[in-house]
Amino acid sequence: MTKFFRRIIKFGTPADLNSAVYLASNTVAPAYECVELGIGDTLLIKAISEAYGSNKATVKDSVQKLGDLGLVARSCKSKQRTLGFAAKPKPLTLVRVIGAFREIAAISGSSSGKWKVDIIKKLLVGVQDSTETKFIIRGLQGKLRIGLAQSTVLVALAHALTMTIPSTVQVDDDGNDDNNDEEEEEEKDDGDDNSNEDPIVKAMMDESLTVEKTLEAHANMIRKVYSEVPSYDALLDAALKVPLVKLNEACQFQPGIPVEPMLAKPTKSIQEVLKRLNGQEFTCEYKYDGERAQIHKTPDGTLKVFSRNLLETSNKYPEVSNYVQEAAEAAIANQKEEKKEKKDDDDDDDGDGEFTGRPVDSYVLDTEVVAFDRVKGHLVPFQILSTRKKTQESGESATVQVIVQAFDLMYLNGKSLLCKSFKERRRLLHKHFAPVEGKFQFAKSLDAVEDGDTIELENFLDAAVKGQCEGLMVKTIVDIYEPSRRSLNWLKLKKDYLDGCGDSFDLVPLGAYFGRGKRTGVYGAYLLGCYDEETEEFQSVCKIGTGFSDEDLKSLSASLNEHKLEGGKSSSYNVAKSLEPDVWFDSVQVWEIKAADLSKSSTHRGALGKLEEGRGIGLRFPRFERIREDKKPSQATNSDQVLEMYYNQDSVKGQGGGDDYDD
Ligand code: ATP
Repeated sequence: MTKFFRRIIKFGTPADLNSAVYLASNTVAPAYECVELGIGDTLLIKAISEAYGSNKATVKDSVQKLGDLGLVARSCKSKQRTLGFAAKPKPLTLVRVIGAFREIAAISGSSSGKWKVDIIKKLLVGVQDSTETKFIIRGLQGKLRIGLAQSTVLVALAHALTMTIPSTVQVDDDGNDDNNDEEEEEEKDDGDDNSNEDPIVKAMMDESLTVEKTLEAHANMIRKVYSEVPSYDALLDAALKVPLVKLNEACQFQPGIPVEPMLAKPTKSIQEVLKRLNGQEFTCEYKYDGERAQIHKTPDGTLKVFSRNLLETSNKYPEVSNYVQEAAEAAIANQKEEKKEKKDDDDDDDGDGEFTGRPVDSYVLDTEVVAFDRVKGHLVPFQILSTRKKTQESGESATVQVIVQAFDLMYLNGKSLLCKSFKERRRLLHKHFAPVEGKFQFAKSLDAVEDGDTIELENFLDAAVKGQCEGLMVKTIVDIYEPSRRSLNWLKLKKDYLDGCGDSFDLVPLGAYFGRGKRTGVYGAYLLGCYDEETEEFQSVCKIGTGFSDEDLKSLSASLNEHKLEGGKSSSYNVAKSLEPDVWFDSVQVWEIKAADLSKSSTHRGALGKLEEGRGIGLRFPRFERIREDKKPSQATNSDQVLEMYYNQDSVKGQGGGDDYDD
């Protein structure tokens, strides 16, 4: 990939690079824009048969035989007869292909199918050889199968930019104009803006680094910037203009583009929390059981809500924007009241802007939207929230009412707060927003307790669980917001951990076994896998047949049947022969699973070889909990987490390891 990107940077245009990056990641736009091609197999079959003059029934037959439309299209293209004198089509360019994909995504309305087929036909007629056909069809299906995860694309891009544009390693030192100097001074005055202290920037400026370390530092920079601004458009635009060492200044977190959320590490007991925090000041918050919602307000007044997965959920929770605005207005009312009481005009000494009497103009809040019973005035379990429709005409009249539980503020009035301490972010959150009954509340919290005093913490955990929460989130006070990082600065302590094997698992169904007896007609058991980020493969960790209601069994069979892999196992599945299921699925869903414990396994491949040469880790007594609509398969529990959870088990700590397990 690095070589390929280098060639494009050297000989192509910025538009070529943009197209290459999107095509390589099998997307047409940033995830948060929720752009979908919306092409079913029927349209593709129509386009293939019309473009290559094949009979539709024959194409359908080939799909049955070959099991992959890309292969079918390739075969049709290679069988196509061309007239000797027919002019060879102009080669397809990257820009033209992605342009056609984007054009298709923009089409809607009653005759959209016809327009889409026309565009696909033009592409198919324009290909030079049959392999191009295969990839175009797979690209249109959203199943490119070139085995490239987003992290690989980012690293390759960083390496290519570093090697092709040598100035990326230099610091721009030729004359900052006065304005810039002033701006820099201002930032310094502002307190704890620590961009110059940024370890990534520091590493990039270290001239004694080896080539390998330099490349690693640059890859870290690109990853960090992408986690704050997950848009290739914004990233590439900046990366081609400024040296990589300044990328974090040229491409900054802004309202309207969701930031990858900060994540937490699981812990199993209050003692473990205290041990891990090792004397650092911390706070505990209720861990609400709802859906994560990042709420963005841009200066033009637009309000948007994004899920943990960075997809826009504004239509699912239309009332949330009003609730947050009411909270901002309530804060102003409180401030006015305070001002009156103090009769002091100069009381805004926080250094975060003048008291204007107007609600904040732009912000990004991190919150949990939780189902709420308005009549009884209490929180309602997640199961109820999950019944809420994806689009609500009016949130206020929805059957399932919600409340916003706010726990962080990442952006305020034109400035990113990501580099501020949690203490400061929370202070600003509580200053610029105020609780509104039944609509907006701050996460309940308990600050620093005496070292080693666990009783207060235990009581707080108990109260959280009684109040329909999952447990506690424990956060260090002085640390910054770390987008996308599963940081030790945030620990989660769930009620279920206390006697289970740590966190629940988020696993991907890879295949299924036909049901018998009462389960005839649906799948009786499934094979689940975790994700290995290094090898970019799904590794089997358990066979599961427990925890499903009859309704679950029916709906899961129906939805996964649409994603059967007719051609057999995917090359990215690491599954032992003895476990091979009756049916394989594409990796499309994530399921939350609870298990009794983890053990070494000769058949399962979780964290293969990381614990012991040639052996993996498997889950014992797994139970289905629910589908995780807010997670992508690549965000499933990864093999390092499986390994960590294995080591964290009481039965394993300080010993050789758990029992062998063979399903
Ligand atoms: P992970 O990615 O760690 O597996 P997850 O999405 O499965 O996480 P959890 O393990 O339940 O979720 O824990 C983190 C989630 O807890 C956050 O994504 C957020 O939605 C939710 N949450 C609830 N209350 C809080 C809080 N006070 N602070 C932070 N997150 C909270």
